[in-house]
Amino acid sequence: MKGIRLEEKTWEEAAKAIEDSGGVAILPIGSVEQHGKHLPLGTDSYVAQGISEAASAATGAVLIPPMWFGWCPHHMVLPGTVTIRPEILIEYLYDVLGSLSAHGLKKVVLVNGHRIVNIVWMQIAAQKAQEAFGIRAVIFDPAYMSKEIVSALDFGPVGHAEEIETSHMLHMHEHIVHMDRAIDNPVKKTERYSVDPSYALDTLCYVPSRKSDQEKHAKESGGTSGSPTKADKNKGEQYHDHLVQRMVEVIEELRRKDV
Ligand SMILES: [Zn+2]
Repeated sequence: MKGIRLEEKTWEEAAKAIEDSGGVAILPIGSVEQHGKHLPLGTDSYVAQGISEAASAATGAVLIPPMWFGWCPHHMVLPGTVTIRPEILIEYLYDVLGSLSAHGLKKVVLVNGHRIVNIVWMQIAAQKAQEAFGIRAVIFDPAYMSKEIVSALDFGPVGHAEEIETSHMLHMHEHIVHMDRAIDNPVKKTERYSVDPSYALDTLCYVPSRKSDQEKHAKESGGTSGSPTKADKNKGEQYHDHLVQRMVEVIEELRRKDV
């Protein structure tokens, strides 16, 4: 399930793969940031890469090497986190899309493993690239593309390093998940703000995080928000398969459309 990896091709093989793909590329975009005491820093990138690989293998879309770093100032209180300024990320992604477009990859699925915080700059870069290069780009975000399966599997709310991400990582990379270190910190019900796309009530769309809150959070739970001890490998597999199927549908739809 490796997918059609661009970085492993020679330029001649790349030309053939691009032609065979119908001009469709998948670009995983993640983050390197704290994920509690039980998950690796690269979790968001592994999530984006894992579903992208499987969808590339299933459809022949060209898999672009992942953008490992994202925007995560709200996790800088814990070691290992790397955050890139959003203005840099916009320019970087814009250049990647310009290059892909120049070689015939004009339909691009941008796969976001880092939820709400990456989406802002990805939207700006995608819109700018669409105007400049005439590409068709879509943002595929697991939190939005899994509402049905998350409800069917009775997962708790979207938090951080919670049972959803933990289950998914147990399915994909169990050897770097440390369940014996998982700490629950249930997502508190707040009337005015939620990062969960399934949240039903009126809500502010974004509240910048404060350093004092981050420090409190880190102390309480080692950076977790949610209930990772409820994670289940089998549910993680069903969640993964649902997302891959959804991405395959998106790719088939892109192929039917003009650029
Ligand atoms: Zn994450």
